[in-house]
Amino acid sequence: MESPLSRIAYVNGRFVRYAEAGVSIEDRGFQFADGVYEVWGVLGGRLTDWDGHAERLERSLSELKMAMPMSQAALLTVLRETVRRNRVVDGIVYLQVTRGVARRDHAFPRPGTPLTVVVTAKSVDLAAEEAKAARGVAVVTQPDIRWGRCDIKTVGLLPNALAKQAAREAGAYEAWLVDRDGYVTEGSSTNAWIVDGEGRLRTRDTGANILRGVTRKTLVTLAAELQLPVLERPFTVAEALGASEAFLTAATAFVTPVVTIDGKPVGSGRPGPVAGRLRSLYLQQARNRSR
Ligand code: PLP
Repeated sequence: MESPLSRIAYVNGRFVRYAEAGVSIEDRGFQFADGVYEVWGVLGGRLTDWDGHAERLERSLSELKMAMPMSQAALLTVLRETVRRNRVVDGIVYLQVTRGVARRDHAFPRPGTPLTVVVTAKSVDLAAEEAKAARGVAVVTQPDIRWGRCDIKTVGLLPNALAKQAAREAGAYEAWLVDRDGYVTEGSSTNAWIVDGEGRLRTRDTGANILRGVTRKTLVTLAAELQLPVLERPFTVAEALGASEAFLTAATAFVTPVVTIDGKPVGSGRPGPVAGRLRSLYLQQARNRSR
């Protein structure tokens, strides 16, 4: 694992040591959470699902009336360089773009105000992640108290942070968020899935107020290739507890089996074969297609 002292960040066009890296106290990301982010997985020093995350970044920015701070090609170069300078082989690369620096006023700053662009990268212990997936993880449920535009990947993550903290305090890995009608929307930083008694995969539809996970999308395609039926339909916590398997997806978690919900076992209470198979195929494809 890299030392924090040696870590390098990209900040507005320059690569700088963490000790010297910083943004203004008037940054709109700090003042209003007026910014978006993306996270790419890194496997073997290369970015996974590059296109999916780049497309979602463009969409998040455009929904908030911000332009891409640079071309996709230039961005890929910056992300790769951040990965290289931090000697990340397996890990993540994080990008944040905010509406820039301006005297505090809720309304947007004048047109032409430069966006703030920050990129960091860190290593992840893949062997530890594999061991975690082999054991399966616990989730707890929490009410979904987020705003109505969870499809935009904004840095406004306080409800997600509160839910994740509740999970940690309960000794769980993730919190599954439950809407007012009793249906699971997604996890605090992952998408939620079950495998029903007939072997069909179920996950919330993208018309709902969820983040359209890139890993989720890749998995829907992978499932189609494997001729595994996918129903993009809401499910309740009771349905998840009655399912034969449950799992979660994210760029950083790939496909990770869920073995308990609120302390009660899902299926056998052990990681299931469908999630296991999807995880290894997802990883194989992600490595082959990485940039
Ligand atoms: N849902 C939420 C709320 C998230 O924050 C994330 C990832 O950060 C995901 C789902 C998974 O998305 P992806 O597969 O694109 O990493």
